[in-house]
Amino acid sequence: MINDDKYAMIAERLSVFTFTNIQAFVQILDTIETFGIDIDDVKDYVRESINNFVGPAKLIRDIGNGTLALKKCPECGAPMKIQEVNTCGGTKIPGKWKSVWTCTREPAAECSHQIYNRTAGRVIVNEILSNKKLLKNYKITKRPPHQLGGQE
Ligand SMILES: [Zn+2]
Repeated sequence: MINDDKYAMIAERLSVFTFTNIQAFVQILDTIETFGIDIDDVKDYVRESINNFVGPAKLIRDIGNGTLALKKCPECGAPMKIQEVNTCGGTKIPGKWKSVWTCTREPAAECSHQIYNRTAGRVIVNEILSNKKLLKNYKITKRPPHQLGGQE
């Protein structure tokens, strides 16, 4: 049992968390104690999982800005970036195009080769994300099962 002062102090300090989360935290503490898992290892596990989880965001960013050369310019060999077109609020171009690969070579006057796609860039990126070799390079294969899926 804890006294009223300590009860009030804990209630106040942990008030940013839901009671359900606090209950889950106590269950987790009981579980790691049962299995003899070090709390610092659990902290490392969470940090590593977060790093792994941000992998897809970085991947999408790198694909979007051409840092990751998923496609090389057929004209000059520079990496190409992919952008959505004809989406709500996006660049409008004639035709039923949904995305465009653009050469990232600087200055743009040197080469501004573009390849238009009838597939959305998001779909192309998702196809790339399902490429196991690429995912391995980005170290996002170790995501915990509960984080798999919803990466929208
Ligand atoms: Zn080029």
